[in-house]
Amino acid sequence: MKVVIIGGVAGGASCAARLRRLDENAEIIILEKGNYISFANCGLPYHVGGVIPSRSSLLLQTPEVMKARFNIDVRVNHEAVNIDRERKCVTVSSLKEGKTYEESYDVLVIATGSSPVRPNIEGIDSERIKTVTTVDDTVRIREMVEEEEIEKVCVIGGGFIGLEMTENLVAAGKKVTLVEASDQLMNNLDKEMSLIVLKEVKKNGVEVILNDAVSAFEDVKEGISVKLSSGKEEKYGLVILAIGVRPNSALAKKAGLALGDRGGIVTDEHMRTSDPSIYAAGDAVEVKDFVSGEKTIIPLASPANKQGRLAADNIAGFEEVYQGSQGTSIAKIFSLSAASTGHNEKQLCRKGLVRGRDYEMVTISQSSHAGYYPGGKPMMIKVLFSLEDEKILGAQIVGEDGVDKRNDVIATAMRLGASIRDLKELELSYAPPFSSAKDPVNMAGFCGENVLRKQASFADYDVLEKEDVFCLDVREKGEVEAYAIPNAFNIPLGQLRERIKEVPEGRKIVVMCAAGVRAHTASRILYNHGYQDVRIYPGGARFYRLTH
Ligand code: FAD
Repeated sequence: MKVVIIGGVAGGASCAARLRRLDENAEIIILEKGNYISFANCGLPYHVGGVIPSRSSLLLQTPEVMKARFNIDVRVNHEAVNIDRERKCVTVSSLKEGKTYEESYDVLVIATGSSPVRPNIEGIDSERIKTVTTVDDTVRIREMVEEEEIEKVCVIGGGFIGLEMTENLVAAGKKVTLVEASDQLMNNLDKEMSLIVLKEVKKNGVEVILNDAVSAFEDVKEGISVKLSSGKEEKYGLVILAIGVRPNSALAKKAGLALGDRGGIVTDEHMRTSDPSIYAAGDAVEVKDFVSGEKTIIPLASPANKQGRLAADNIAGFEEVYQGSQGTSIAKIFSLSAASTGHNEKQLCRKGLVRGRDYEMVTISQSSHAGYYPGGKPMMIKVLFSLEDEKILGAQIVGEDGVDKRNDVIATAMRLGASIRDLKELELSYAPPFSSAKDPVNMAGFCGENVLRKQASFADYDVLEKEDVFCLDVREKGEVEAYAIPNAFNIPLGQLRERIKEVPEGRKIVVMCAAGVRAHTASRILYNHGYQDVRIYPGGARFYRLTH
């Protein structure tokens, strides 16, 4: 069997190595148009900031090692330019030699990845506009940052690549402006969770411009001028463009393979394309959304690696099924970690789902470990779950410590079909330096169960601005003096029973405390005294302060 793999990084290299382990006799060829195979795309921003100082650390495998260890014929600087499905051969352009040749295959794997979106706007071809995709891109950016006297950099796009680049450019001593066309950073998060990220980015001296898109670029003396739709215009030494990626599916399209609505290559559950001799994996393919079962594009490293491996299993005759991608991701943003898995509330709303009817949420503030052990850091956790079957639909967590662990526990629970109530059953590792006897994930489960039993209900983070509510602040006087919530009425929790008459009947009530725990107790007191419409302010005054 002769297997040709187009693309030699996450999906392609995983596929090749796995296939060799399963089949010693297959002839395996990797065609990679770039200079390197198997490089650490995800590490690229950290080379710019000097966290990964050596370029060689980004190169995980070389063609020589792939040959010696796996007997794989790796051809870098070889671009596949055409696929002839009838004759089962690929036309290859040898970029260094300027020659073209044909390579036949029994099985072909397309793992061509994705490319950064470059909008067709005036001045887009400037040498000062860089994207972060390859090792060479990154090395060039680092050279510019180190050698040229660049003071100011404009990063366009507030997703995880834009944010990682922002952090690393700040680490490299640059003054950074971050421009994002939508009204929030990190679109995988809901707005309120993203506001924590926004605060952190600004705290680190970054100028953030939201709700404004780039309309044109212009090369000017020793720099580039960035013009925004609002009319703002500013000169920078360098622009980093990180506004998203598109699947590299042109080759597949030209070969007549089926593509989905978003341009990804359509595969079946075995990663086989519409041609049974051709498989595809990674950013170039359309995947099944694990939560909704719908078709989507999820360009992340973990799915790409797994799909490549799974394609190899199927090529070798093991009928393995790809169960879908749930978009589990995490990013470091200065001292914060922001993670998510599954769907966020914006996605649920876009599908016409309604909170209270179709799904519910818990939003809680928790400490990364026991409060009495020094160094615990707060984290905000938002979990969404279905009211039909109580299954978890998604989670978002932002904090300084322990975020990855909690997001991964919830992501794993989701994979195994867990309901929100199942989270309270999980027995997770505990000692004071690591967690609390009731881990934050358990707490999300407890709160979820309270919501299902109608013993708790969470308000929106902006409820005080958008609804006519009576805000009852149950913190102690000293806490209120330190930070007061506008128009809130203060009755410390310990006095609530005796002063309950001061809480008006027949009004919507939102209860606030420092983090949410006392507010829950107060809401129970109010319910048990006959108050009907009582909601807990999620994350308390701390979250209010972060989001306002
Ligand atoms: P790639 O890894 O991009 O490999 C595709 C390869 O195919 C490329 O090397 C390309 O040159 C080659 N190719 C394309 N067309 C041809 C052709 N016609 N002939 C020959 N070769 C061709 N994901 C995460 O989960 N976590 C992260 O922290 C993270 N950080 C990232 C940071 C950056 C800066 C970038 C760019 C991406 C990051 N990602 C991250 C995304 C992750 O890297 C991708 O999802 C993953 O690499 C996709 O794997 P792939 O094999 O589909 O494509």
